Amino acid sequence: MSPVVDGVFVAPCAFGRGLFAARRYAAGERVLRFVGPEREDPRDGSREESNLVQIGLDRYLFPDEPWVYVNHSCLPNTAFRDDAVTLYAIAPIERGEELFFDYSTSILRDPWTMGCGCGHADCRGIIGEFPALPPSVQRRYLERGHVPSFVRDHLGFAPGGEAFKRRAS
Ligand SMILES: [Zn+2]
Repeated sequence: MSPVVDGVFVAPCAFGRGLFAARRYAAGERVLRFVGPEREDPRDGSREESNLVQIGLDRYLFPDEPWVYVNHSCLPNTAFRDDAVTLYAIAPIERGEELFFDYSTSILRDPWTMGCGCGHADCRGIIGEFPALPPSVQRRYLERGHVPSFVRDHLGFAPGGEAFKRRAS
C-alpha cells in the first residue's frame, strides 16, 4: 500500500494495482483531479495508451502517480462532470473502497477498444468510445451529468442529455 496522497492510496487489486479511497467520500464530493503532462495518443495498444485520459477532442493527459492507477468499471463509483480531469463520487464511497470511473464516458477516438473484466452483471466486456455505448447507457450517463462537456458538445447533447442542433458556424 502506498502512502496516502490527497485522500487516496495505491494498492493491489484484481487488475494489478488500483486507486483506493483513504477516507469516506459523500455522494457528489470531489474525489480527485488528474494532473500530468499532455501527451499525444500513441494509438499502439500499449499500456501507456490505455492509461491516457482524453481531456479534449485531440487532447490527452498522462496522469501522474497515484492517479494513473484509477481503473475502469462498467458500474463506477466516480464520474466526471464538465471537465474530464475531475472525478466526483456518484454514491457514498467508504474508506478502503477501490475507485473506478467508466473510461468510455470520456473517450472519442474510434476505433480504440480495451477488454473489460470488471465482473459486474452488466459488464459490457469491452471498453470503447462513448458513441459505441448502448444507447440506454449513453442516455443514463447524459441524464446524470456524467459526460464531460467536450464529448457532449461534439455529439450535440445539452448537459442534461437532450439533443440539440449545433449552431452552424
Ligand atoms: Zn466491465
